[in-house]
Amino acid sequence: MGRPNGQHSLCVYSPIPPPPYVGGYEPEARNMNRREFLAMIMGAAVAPGRAEQEKRQFRLWAMGDAHVGTDLKRKRESLAEAIRQSEQEDAGFAWDLALNVGDFSGNQSAPDDDEGREVARQYEATRKHRREDFYDLAGNHDASGPGEPTQGWFRKWIDPTGENTQFSGVDPKRRRYPVEGTWERYSFRVGNLLFLVMSDRNDGGPPVGRGKRGGYPSGAVTGETFAWWKRMVEANRDAIIICAHHHMLRETTVGSGDWEGLIKNPDGTLTSRYHGHQPDGGSWEGASYLYYVDGQPKAMAFEKYLEAHPGAIDLWIGGHTHTNPDDNFNGRTHIERKWGATFINCCALSRFHVMTRSRPMSRLLTFTDGSAEARVQCYLHTAQHAPQGWYPKAERTIKLGKAFRC
Ligand SMILES: [Zn+2]
Repeated sequence: MGRPNGQHSLCVYSPIPPPPYVGGYEPEARNMNRREFLAMIMGAAVAPGRAEQEKRQFRLWAMGDAHVGTDLKRKRESLAEAIRQSEQEDAGFAWDLALNVGDFSGNQSAPDDDEGREVARQYEATRKHRREDFYDLAGNHDASGPGEPTQGWFRKWIDPTGENTQFSGVDPKRRRYPVEGTWERYSFRVGNLLFLVMSDRNDGGPPVGRGKRGGYPSGAVTGETFAWWKRMVEANRDAIIICAHHHMLRETTVGSGDWEGLIKNPDGTLTSRYHGHQPDGGSWEGASYLYYVDGQPKAMAFEKYLEAHPGAIDLWIGGHTHTNPDDNFNGRTHIERKWGATFINCCALSRFHVMTRSRPMSRLLTFTDGSAEARVQCYLHTAQHAPQGWYPKAERTIKLGKAFRC
């Protein structure tokens, strides 16, 4: 509607409950859904009462852990296939914006340009959305190795701020919801939702980052990122705050406790449970959660802050631990409530990275104008666990600290 940067107005109108797909429209003409469009061209008035039945909604598609290179070796396009499924005419679903929580690469050592080119190519599978409708962050597998430019691969091929458009295909001018910040940490707003997106910093060598033999799975951020997060949380108490990082916080969702990612055997040896390990080093205790801040192990900076300030954020979306949607380990599942917030592990898109446990899936979050609840649906991208498509058993309704306004 002639807005700067090609933005459309917040929220499309869609029937409740979602999601019959109202696709077929051009992204630029999304203020009207198919039914309204048909009603208009047929000269028919929209039925009385329709306005009461329909609410303005915003649909967030959350995904992660595509591990593109690993699946491609088995001839599966983990990222492109999910996009194509979402955009199918009949069996697809409508979404307004996608959040991808990282681990684009499947490499154990630092990712290379071939895999970066492949990620960019798979993103081109989108037909009804723009590349800029995906908001990305770096996972531990995306990290640069010792001696390489800091997060050079991620900045070149994934590039959330659009500094390398010729490689990534991301043009910051085409963002419907412009980002503020850097490749490492940025924010954007949709109505009264404030997204705080933080990349993992598993780069630069041991003890935090990649060693010579391969990556260490524990999550890491810098002290500057934590300080930025705290500042943004405190300056935006009127917003619904959605945080995103590749890793979950400690003891929130499935597999995120100490020694839950890896098993320490009585004889001192290690066995993988959810995560692999490198015998030459790594932070085995915290293999499955955000373990380091500025190189300090088990820093728990976010956890301590949230414990002292319950309700400071509304949502934390992450991935990293691949498992079936019904997994419940030590009393924790994929969606859990703690410190007045909801934690959602939305991954993984991969079928073959951690092959024994990965069940390709993603989540669709639906926010409705005026409601302080959001619907969280689980979509299965293969038929390994249950029929491909929506998996109603894993659906949840979650609380927000305040009503969504678009
Ligand atoms: Zn990971």
